[in-house]
Amino acid sequence: MSGNPFRNDFPVFRTGKYRYMDSAATAQRPDSVIEALKDYYETMNANPLRGLYELSIKATEGYEESRRAAAQLIGAKPGEIIFTRNATESLNLVAYSYAMNFLEPGDEIVTTVMEHHSNMLPWRMAAEKTGAVVRYLTPLSDGTFTEEELSLGITDRTRLVAIGHVSNVLGCENPVKRIAQMAHDKGAVVVVDAAQSVPHMKVDVNELSADFLAFSGHKLMGPFGIGVLFGKEELLDKMPPFLRGGEMIESVSLEGQTWAELPHKFEAGTVNAAGAFGLKSAIDYLNRAGYERIREVEDTLTARLMEGMSRFEYVHIQGPEDPYRHNGIVSFTIDGVHPHDISSILDGSGINIRAGHHCAEPLMKYLKVQSTARASLYLYNDEEDVDALLEAIPRVRRIMGL
Ligand code: PMP
Repeated sequence: MSGNPFRNDFPVFRTGKYRYMDSAATAQRPDSVIEALKDYYETMNANPLRGLYELSIKATEGYEESRRAAAQLIGAKPGEIIFTRNATESLNLVAYSYAMNFLEPGDEIVTTVMEHHSNMLPWRMAAEKTGAVVRYLTPLSDGTFTEEELSLGITDRTRLVAIGHVSNVLGCENPVKRIAQMAHDKGAVVVVDAAQSVPHMKVDVNELSADFLAFSGHKLMGPFGIGVLFGKEELLDKMPPFLRGGEMIESVSLEGQTWAELPHKFEAGTVNAAGAFGLKSAIDYLNRAGYERIREVEDTLTARLMEGMSRFEYVHIQGPEDPYRHNGIVSFTIDGVHPHDISSILDGSGINIRAGHHCAEPLMKYLKVQSTARASLYLYNDEEDVDALLEAIPRVRRIMGL
């Protein structure tokens, strides 16, 4: 039996088969989330926001309750929460509806070389379409940005700053508050990719001064296919819709149309009501567990993992030296072994970790590696997971004939 009481809430761990350490890619789901999905389809399944009968009203209430839970989680107003498919769609929504409509030739979008492709490619597209220019802030190798780098990068021409809150490769937290202050001083809006932070730490959009903030449900134990975009009301109000069709209008005639009020203007078509309902259950689970407890588990295990890895001279960890700055993410390489081989060999012992470029190819180039292996921890991991990984590392080298 694991010493971690959360673990037993997850059916995948009750099989006793997996040492899952790929939660930065997607988290495992507890019973309560799986039950909530079943409950939705069994007791309230109807097309929400349309019907005037009881089932549909229940579905609508469930959907809107989830919006309130998401709003509360990040300190926003429910009308500022738009449900999307995932963080990627949330960021694209901002690129299409905000950047492509409000940027002009010569304006600058500032982002960083450490971004996930989802927080890089939409901005490049917006730049191509508007004639704006994308500038990249470069961190030091431990993921920190010097004040000089920030102030050289964020200038009078900056109109939008897109910053990852926590790097999915290095694990470090970026100084979003400071960056937002600099961006706002120049009149730019700030978009925060919070895909790797909201599952692990208290995020408050007011405290960060975020104008937009994106995250995915599936990384915080919710269902696939439901994501969140927070946007400040005054910005969302002036933006045109992203997708057009059913549900997002107030009225349509052959001559024209008027848009529904926020947030429905940005939720075209039948919504993912079951996904939202499941997300509410995941947020409830997260709140019951508490960010402090989550942090404690992650910090203890990350320190144990990094300390153990430091004993192998052939293992190299990317990012900060301080385990408490890793937010449960440890990317590493082993001399002489391709990261794909590390992951495949570990799978033989039921240890699940990621290998590849982690959708951050420019960062890989900057770090001068092709790819890395990445262990990412969450509240359900335990010391046995970490120790199994540490014990397997010399075996990986042996199997590769080293
Ligand atoms: N940003 C970061 C930092 C991520 O780690 C991820 C997921 N790997 C994303 C964005 C995209 O999330 P999704 O694939 O759920 O849209």
